Amino acid sequence: MTRRDLLAALPLPLLAREGSILVHEHVMVDFVGAETIRPGRYDPNEVFRLARPKLEEAKKLGCVRLLECTPNFLGRDARLMKRLEDAVGLEIWTNTGLYGAADHKFVPAFARAESAEQLARRWIQEFEKGIDGVKPRFIKTGVNKGPLHELDGKLVRAAAICSRATGLPIASHTGDGAAALEELEIVAAEKTPLSRFVWVHAQSEKDHAIHEKAARAGAWVEFDGIGPDSADWHLDCLRFMASRNLLDRALISQDAGWYNVGSPGGGNYRGYGYIYTDFLPRLDPAWTAALMIENPRRAFP
Ligand SMILES: [Zn+2]
Repeated sequence: MTRRDLLAALPLPLLAREGSILVHEHVMVDFVGAETIRPGRYDPNEVFRLARPKLEEAKKLGCVRLLECTPNFLGRDARLMKRLEDAVGLEIWTNTGLYGAADHKFVPAFARAESAEQLARRWIQEFEKGIDGVKPRFIKTGVNKGPLHELDGKLVRAAAICSRATGLPIASHTGDGAAALEELEIVAAEKTPLSRFVWVHAQSEKDHAIHEKAARAGAWVEFDGIGPDSADWHLDCLRFMASRNLLDRALISQDAGWYNVGSPGGGNYRGYGYIYTDFLPRLDPAWTAALMIENPRRAFP
């Protein structure tokens, strides 16, 4: 019997991490692009039917909240997330903001023309009025690798302005460490606390010194994308952070899911269980509560 089989044979409660939060996952994504995306490209009932058991599994493993990180113009559907939240009994948080990564494929025309202040105003409105009746709980943005493109810099500045006005944390998909450091400068220049900034996909940066620098500046360093092919590198990142006494600035998640709009049957929907069944058992047990329970609540209050 392999270790994996042994773990699979254990009753779920033994693997559960009660009260844990998955800070970066997806239920649905539509990669068609901001020019082409429109309502009606998917059947919400089909997405609901396929997503529900995956979310129920996460709940059984102790997850109480999942941050759905699909931005507007990439398939964000707050109404559908609310329906799933109510059906499963697991909090699903949605977001405001715009995503500049992937060379601006998901940036709508209005965002190219408007100023950072104007964009921030749109997002503040979503915070105040809700998105289809659902209040966004964080700002999601995204930038390519550094040096930052002007449009990416504008999106980050808009996020910082919105965060300053609303208190919402910023989760930014970031191409590399050079881009991350530039983002920190923009956020700091807007007098928004760096503790509200989450460097998403920090695992893409291979230089731990940049992880350390961002964490020491006060930002959150998120090693997401945890899965069967990448767990060793994520462990290495966490061991480094622990060796520098910086685990209290680290976050982990899987960036898993999702119903892929446009693929037959939604494509290959990866569930949310791996981090519980395979990754957490490899961690120092003392770290688990910090990474899965305490840090997510501090980063995303
Ligand atoms: Zn993601």
